[in-house]
Amino acid sequence: MRSQLYIDGKWNSPVNGGTFDVIDPATEEVIHRAPAGTSEDIEAAVKAARRGFDLGRWPKLSDTERAGYLCKIAAGIRERQRELAQLEVIDNGKPFPAADRDIGDAVGCFEFYADLTDRLYNSLEEKIALPDTRFTSKVVREPLGVAGAIIPWNYPLLMAAWKAAPALAVGCAMVLEPSELTPLTALELGATVDDAGLPRGVLNIVTGLGPQAGQALIDHPGIDKLAFTGSVSTGSKVMAAAARDIKRVSLELGGKSPSVIFDDADIEQAVEWIMFGIFWNQGQVCSATSRVLAQDGVYERLLTRLIDETRKIPIGNGLDDGVLLGPLVSEEQHRKVLSAVGAARVAGATIASGGGRPATLERGFFVEQTILIDVPLASDAWREEIFGPVVGVRPFSTEAEAIELANDSRFGLTAAVMSNDDARAERVAAAFRAGIVWINCSQPTFTEAPWGGYKQSGVGRELGRWGLENYLEIKQITRFTSERRSWGWYIKPEEVAR
Ligand code: NAD
Repeated sequence: MRSQLYIDGKWNSPVNGGTFDVIDPATEEVIHRAPAGTSEDIEAAVKAARRGFDLGRWPKLSDTERAGYLCKIAAGIRERQRELAQLEVIDNGKPFPAADRDIGDAVGCFEFYADLTDRLYNSLEEKIALPDTRFTSKVVREPLGVAGAIIPWNYPLLMAAWKAAPALAVGCAMVLEPSELTPLTALELGATVDDAGLPRGVLNIVTGLGPQAGQALIDHPGIDKLAFTGSVSTGSKVMAAAARDIKRVSLELGGKSPSVIFDDADIEQAVEWIMFGIFWNQGQVCSATSRVLAQDGVYERLLTRLIDETRKIPIGNGLDDGVLLGPLVSEEQHRKVLSAVGAARVAGATIASGGGRPATLERGFFVEQTILIDVPLASDAWREEIFGPVVGVRPFSTEAEAIELANDSRFGLTAAVMSNDDARAERVAAAFRAGIVWINCSQPTFTEAPWGGYKQSGVGRELGRWGLENYLEIKQITRFTSERRSWGWYIKPEEVAR
């Protein structure tokens, strides 16, 4: 576990020497004191990134050369996959199989952007057909400069990869600020890029507290673009800070996503997808389908099956064999989720299953897999992100009612529909106001496909070729090709008719 920041290709202690505690959420023990970077360290990191971009060779390398570095980074992560997954478990609490899958996905993300930039970015030069044929015009994409990336704690290394891989692929430099709750694997990314021989200053990693290191990063005038994943409230601060210097900004924020189950759906499959949609990663997933709407004819059966299956999920320390539900990430998150369940009950909801700390686990930030019914539509439990293993289930009668209930949210990240009637599934998918829609499934995420939300779930898209566009500027180059000296549009004074 590293105790220094990665700035300008070197490991440095924070200027003021500060640290913060890293706690294993399964044992509540302090497992490390991580370096607490502050505005001075951000200053050094931004300077290094500016040098890396403005004066360095990184943006001038060919796409193929940069892709080579990305492949080396991917290989470096793959080589240490098991060790990194174990770090993710003790840092975040997630079960080992989930952590292992995340690390594999991070490898896949670097490989995907290595391949895509090599294939696509080169071909992004476009010719524009102009009505005046004496001119030719082309459009080229260029790296937009230095990006400041701020990521959350729920997928620590994977969220770093979602930002760093496309940014580096196109030639940007980056300062990355990981969440103070899960700094361990992001710092290891520093070691991996160092081993890959990435030029100095291209990727800088500063751990620290959000209100200090994060705030200094979003306020820094040397940053051209802010790429943020986290809560709506911090996202709003990021957008306000970006507004001051007209920084580019992309935001991946929260959700309160619906899963709509029609009478004709395959109920056994629906139960599996619902459980994956809300209990994977302890429900700490922006795209979690935390509102389930089940049609009248299937509501009771679905609820019974969901309760039965949910109770079978093995809960415990993520390092133990067979565990599929770990602790929440922190004491604060534990308190927030349990108080949201308490508030739901006060508002009139019934706890159909779970609802508290598991009786067998005295230590650790564990919350039982929880199912709420009779959740009032106006309550926070139905409207606000709980970010824990808590799902609300409600009946509905008609397709129109389901769509209205599903869309009645300030969020619009994901939505799922399950029905064996293809035409209906397509109609409902089209009616959802959400950036990611799943038919007869929930949560499958592919690096190839765009990720991002409508409404307050964010601005812009990550992943796929859309992820590259986040880090590119567009330049048009127009050339006058006529032999004539005058271009004909400028009206000379002597030509003005009197
Ligand atoms: P958060 O907003 O509390 O923190 C996110 C990051 O912001 C952290 O790195 C933190 O250090 C930093 N931060 C905090 N205050 C800051 C400030 N004043 N200035 C700059 N940075 C600051 O969110 P979280 O609790 O870490 O993550 C959970 C949230 O993230 C949920 O709302 C979830 O839905 C969302 N999320 C969204 C996606 C997505 O792709 N849409 C993915 C994962 C998580």
